Amino acid sequence: MRILIVGGVAGGASAAARARRLNADAEIVILEKGTNISFANCGLPYHLGGEIANREKLIIASPDLFWNRFRIEVRTEHEVVSIDRASKCVSILDHRSGDLVGLTYDRLILSTGSQPLAPPQCQPLPANAFHLWTLNDMDRIMASIVKHNPKSAVVIGGGFVGLEVVEQLHRRKMNVTLIERNPQVLQQLDRLFAKIVENHLESKGVQLALGVQIKNLIKREDRVTAIELEDGNTIPTDLLIVGAGVRPRIALAEQAGLQIGINGGVVVNEFMQSSDPSIYAVGDIAELKHGVTGELTRIPLAGPANRGGRIAGEHAALQHASPMGAILGTAIVRVFDLTAACTGLNETTLNAKGIPFRSAIIEAGSHASYFPASQSMQLKLLYSPSDGKILGAQSVGGEGVDKRIDIIATAMHFGGTVRQLAQVDLAYAPPYGSAKDPIHMAAFVACNDLDRSPRLVEPTASLTGKQIVDVRTERERQQIPLPNAIAIEIDHLADRWTELDPELPTVVVCHSGKRAHIGACFLLRKGFQQVMNLTGGMSIRSLMSL
Ligand code: FAD
Repeated sequence: MRILIVGGVAGGASAAARARRLNADAEIVILEKGTNISFANCGLPYHLGGEIANREKLIIASPDLFWNRFRIEVRTEHEVVSIDRASKCVSILDHRSGDLVGLTYDRLILSTGSQPLAPPQCQPLPANAFHLWTLNDMDRIMASIVKHNPKSAVVIGGGFVGLEVVEQLHRRKMNVTLIERNPQVLQQLDRLFAKIVENHLESKGVQLALGVQIKNLIKREDRVTAIELEDGNTIPTDLLIVGAGVRPRIALAEQAGLQIGINGGVVVNEFMQSSDPSIYAVGDIAELKHGVTGELTRIPLAGPANRGGRIAGEHAALQHASPMGAILGTAIVRVFDLTAACTGLNETTLNAKGIPFRSAIIEAGSHASYFPASQSMQLKLLYSPSDGKILGAQSVGGEGVDKRIDIIATAMHFGGTVRQLAQVDLAYAPPYGSAKDPIHMAAFVACNDLDRSPRLVEPTASLTGKQIVDVRTERERQQIPLPNAIAIEIDHLADRWTELDPELPTVVVCHSGKRAHIGACFLLRKGFQQVMNLTGGMSIRSLMSL
């Protein structure tokens, strides 16, 4: 049996190695149009700033290793240009010799990845403008930096890769501007959480141009010298990195007549088989089931690519495999001293899909506050108002954000509710967490909301017509004022609650929502009719003055 694999990086390399481990006799060939296989594309940004100093560390496995260890043949600079399904044969262009050769397959695994995009105004890319998608791209950027010593840089695209590049160029002491056509960075986050990241970028001296389109590149000879924006601003630059999204490379799959889904990817079953059972599609080109909506989706991330490759390799080798699980789009990025992470759906997507939801926001420490070096994080849970099923989560903060989002992703994988999350038995000692972990605290708040004990109010909600009780200290109120509120510090509420009208809908407010919860519970027990807690408190609401 011959298994051909097209594309030798995340999904392709995983598929090849798995197939070999399960089948010692199959002939396995990787066809890769580039010069490298199995490199760490996720590590590329970190070499730019010198954080991963040794380039060779980014090459996980060489063609020689694949041959010596696995007896897998790797042909680099070999591009598959067409598939003939009737004769089960692919045509391959050998870029070194220029020859076009045919090779038959019994099983064919496509892992052709994505194509980076550039706004039309940037095309063709000037000599000092680059994508960062392959090792060769990275080498070209490094060579340009060494040769021209740029003092300033513009990064187009405020997604995960764009932000990583911003940080790394800043490490190189460049004056960096980030341009994003949407009004916020990281579209996966809700607006206020993205705002925390934006504030942090600005605190590091990164200039942000958000919600603005590129009008034109100003060039001298073949190099860009400035970027003209639609809002009239012009940003001078010595270097331009374009990280404006990606498109799945499905030309081969289309030419072969495989079924293409509504998200522009190849439709596959749980074993990663396309509409032709002899052809598998994995990684960025595959459409997979979403764990919240159950709909097909396409999320270009390394985790699903590697797991999908493993399943395709297993199925190609054995004709059976454990099925691919649903995906949640769990993702994480470091932005200087902050980490931002998310899983499941955000408010924008839930609204667009008409899925009812509620949300709870907490601020918590990475570990017990009395143990040194605890770092703060904001954590948001989105859940179903009917059964408390977790629909999504986001977190931005210091240490420990990764752990919390991964725990919630695990709970979501198993269809968990906020009530179940509140009972998860987590490891605890002061250097690592809290006996009531941020996970539990967020789940407790969500459960209280579902039980109306008290109900939560969205940070962006209008408070007009409500009796607003501000239980913060005077100093806090001066720092972030809240107009039209009745100020009664939490420790005075037991003495002064009679000043309030128990018939009015009442919102209790503090810095993070914690003291407001105590105040709201007190008023509820005193017979107030409708008491609510402003979720996330003023620390989040104050971000609204965007
Ligand atoms: P790839 O790994 O891109 O491999 C596709 C390969 O197919 C390419 O080498 C290409 O040359 C080859 N190919 C294409 N067409 C042909 C053809 N016709 N014939 C032969 N070969 C062909 N994801 C995360 O989850 N976390 C991260 O931190 C993260 N960081 C990233 C940083 C960067 C700079 C980049 C570029 C990506 C990052 N990603 C990250 C995304 C992740 O790397 C991709 O989702 C993943 O690599 C997709 O795997 P794949 O196998 O589908 O495609």
